[in-house]
Amino acid sequence: MTYSPSESRYDNMLYRRCGRSGIKLPAISLGLWHNFGGVDVYENSRKIIQRAFDLGITHFDLANNYGPPYGSAEKNFGRILKQDFMPYRDELFISSKAGYDMWPGPYGDRGSRKYLIASCDQSLQRLGLDYVDIFYHHRPDPDTPLEETMIALNQIVKQGKALYVGISNYPAEKTRKAAEILESLGTPFLIHQPRYNMFDRWIEESLLDVLEEKGIGSIVFSPLDQGILTDKYLVDIPEGSRASREESFLSRDAITEEKMSKVRDLNALAKERGQSLAQMAIAWILRHNQVTSVLVGASSVQQIEENVGSLDLLEFSQEELDQIEIILED
Ligand code: NDP
Repeated sequence: MTYSPSESRYDNMLYRRCGRSGIKLPAISLGLWHNFGGVDVYENSRKIIQRAFDLGITHFDLANNYGPPYGSAEKNFGRILKQDFMPYRDELFISSKAGYDMWPGPYGDRGSRKYLIASCDQSLQRLGLDYVDIFYHHRPDPDTPLEETMIALNQIVKQGKALYVGISNYPAEKTRKAAEILESLGTPFLIHQPRYNMFDRWIEESLLDVLEEKGIGSIVFSPLDQGILTDKYLVDIPEGSRASREESFLSRDAITEEKMSKVRDLNALAKERGQSLAQMAIAWILRHNQVTSVLVGASSVQQIEENVGSLDLLEFSQEELDQIEIILED
């Protein structure tokens, strides 16, 4: 079936400026870490991407090793682009990354110039694209000089293979140093991609201040703690859920009673507000101006619809915010 996007796709999404750049990102973006690999049902992946775009999600996030197997999420996304989205390429903002193990030997992992340049070329080939909008270094590498990694990102932009660069999982001080190097090279450092959710709040300590000071945007991953901050695990671990799947990165042991007792209280508060827990968890993240976009994952069309529904109620009373603090502290 030929796909034609919804005419109303830009009517309800909220777009937020990314740091001090000229780029606006949707408040909710879609990540392809799980559910888009070679082991997944292609037509389901395709439907999720189509629905996301119909809802105004213009930003899709990938990495060289998303799958499984490695590379297959980029291949599948490339196929979906070719089938459905090539007329809309200029409406899309697509990212990829390198930094984790990708191919055997000393040049397929970490942060060397050799690895990043080769990996970016491979990603473009799998995606069937001439350029990505953002290319990230996926994680800091203590063994490679930061200058070398930043020079590699600079080279990728100068070659026209990416429009902007980003870093992911970098602590605050290393982010500041990276920003200074990129500034001196004249390369646009658009965005940081850290992990952030109600159970993992490390960015509040100092990263958000550095981003503000340097005018860098951010897009936060695992906002739902991989599904724990939803109503999914309230009763048990359902068949087919991420925690039940062998190839996933969420183990059954992560669903602890301690976490679930907080999740139950948060779920009750979300209900009082008239939204689902997933929606409240997303809205709570968007209270930070330094967070440009919330990067969700989804295994179904219904989940992406529910998650975008969080934009219907973003405001919190002080009392609700205090209640959340009390639940999380307990
Ligand atoms: P989330 O915390 O949003 O978890 C997504 C999972 O939660 C879904 O796959 C689904 O799992 C479940 N879920 C989502 N919405 C709902 C809902 N409304 N109701 C019930 N369950 C729901 O994010 P991810 O951990 O997937 O991370 C998002 C993206 O962030 C990734 O795709 C990737 O692009 C990026 N990322 C980046 C990293 C980095 O190092 N830079 C690391 C990790 C992720 P189920 O299958 O159980 O239905």
